[in-house]
Amino acid sequence: MIDELFLKRKATQIRKDFIQMIFEAGTGHTGSSLSNTDILTALYYGVMNVNPQNPDWEDRDRYVQSKGHAVESYWAVLADKGFFPKEELKTFSRYNSRLIGHPNNKVPGVEMNTGALGHGLSVSVGMALAAKLDQKSYRVFTLMGDGEQAEGSVWEAAMAASQYKLDNLVGIIDRNRLQITGSTNDVMNNEPLDEKWESFGWEVIEVDGNDVAALVRTFQQAPFKSDKPTMVLANTVKGKGISFTENQVGWHHRVPSEKEYRMAMEELTKQLEVLI
Ligand SMILES: [Mg+2]
Repeated sequence: MIDELFLKRKATQIRKDFIQMIFEAGTGHTGSSLSNTDILTALYYGVMNVNPQNPDWEDRDRYVQSKGHAVESYWAVLADKGFFPKEELKTFSRYNSRLIGHPNNKVPGVEMNTGALGHGLSVSVGMALAAKLDQKSYRVFTLMGDGEQAEGSVWEAAMAASQYKLDNLVGIIDRNRLQITGSTNDVMNNEPLDEKWESFGWEVIEVDGNDVAALVRTFQQAPFKSDKPTMVLANTVKGKGISFTENQVGWHHRVPSEKEYRMAMEELTKQLEVLI
């Protein structure tokens, strides 16, 4: 049974947590983190088998955030789940903090240092292959950006996953159709993504990437074909949840002004108020 209201409240609260974090730190990937918040919420609150008290538990499901720059939503989720104290979010991007601007495995719950795009899926293939060899039932979830599809190494991993029949691997593309300098169509057109992944031997599923309940259902059902890796094309809105950041390429790595911060928090608070 999926508690849709709980998931929506959680996603909105997570957005509030990291918008505050970005504003106070004066740095962050606002639009990118807002884009993947619902995907992270679905994975961590409705799908993945993890234990914050024992983050290295060998049977845990693995999450690799290959689009490492969108780290703020990730930090907020890990803190909320109890991997580290929520108070620590206040240290984000400050001297000596382990909560730096990209995922790193000094932080409990993080599997891999990421940020250089195009590496996460290859390492995830290794993790999924290890599970098969060890006869373990854990799954590996890997989040990539749609701009990241321009990295050639993604497609080497795509071939390997299919070759080794890794049906315990779930790739996710945060398909917001924008990247750092413009639309993905203008910068490096990657469509048709569904046919490309299918031709590399993956089972491809499309879903509304800002519908947390739909995401949970999709991730729970994977694999859709035995012996085949799954690619979830999550159609998202970059900057989702705040009216003036949605679909705005300039918000990829922009910090709200004090006025924008207040407007953003007001909007998110209003969204929370109706989710009862
Ligand atoms: Mg993108």
